[in-house]
Amino acid sequence: MRIILLGPPGAGKGTQAKEIVARYGIPHISTGDLLREQVASGSELGNRVKAILDSGELVTDEIVMEMVDDRINRPDCTKGFLLDGVPRTVKQAEILATMLEHRHAALSAVVQISVPEDVLLERIRNRGIANAGARTDDTAEVAAKRLEVYRTQTAPVAQYYRERNALREVNGVGTVAEVSERVFASVER
Ligand code: AMP
Repeated sequence: MRIILLGPPGAGKGTQAKEIVARYGIPHISTGDLLREQVASGSELGNRVKAILDSGELVTDEIVMEMVDDRINRPDCTKGFLLDGVPRTVKQAEILATMLEHRHAALSAVVQISVPEDVLLERIRNRGIANAGARTDDTAEVAAKRLEVYRTQTAPVAQYYRERNALREVNGVGTVAEVSERVFASVER
């Protein structure tokens, strides 16, 4: 099972990702988590990406896709994986397509969680209050920036998969259980 989870910041991707990996027994690959690990490790790469993460802008396609390539080469990914937070640009989607072609590995599903923008802003604001200090990119200002980056750079990724008849859209408004039922149904349809 190779699944991509798409959706704007605040759509509940992280929460749904946990449900998906538990159900299908596949590793959870979150590029946001991988980047935050780099920052926490104090590596040279981590120091370079910290300012970008804090601004709400995107890290370069090359850095992110090299991390993804390394990660999906690990043995636990032979049975599949869930990608969360990637691809974030059409260029990343193209690089991913090439990486998967080389491995003769097809995608099983691309699931987009859709949530209206006012609900998103409210959720991101609440998350900022809930983990004050844990994520330095959850301030209102950075949240607005991340949504703008989503609209301009990441929304076209959904279109990329829609044009290839691979996109499955799921309504992200509801309880965690309601939304995950919809996600499972879309993956298994
Ligand atoms: P996330 O945890 O997915 O919301 O990601 C947090 C931050 O990490 C984003 O605001 C970006 O700065 C960076 N990031 C995560 N994934 C990517 C990606 N695929 N491409 C570029 N930047 C990314």
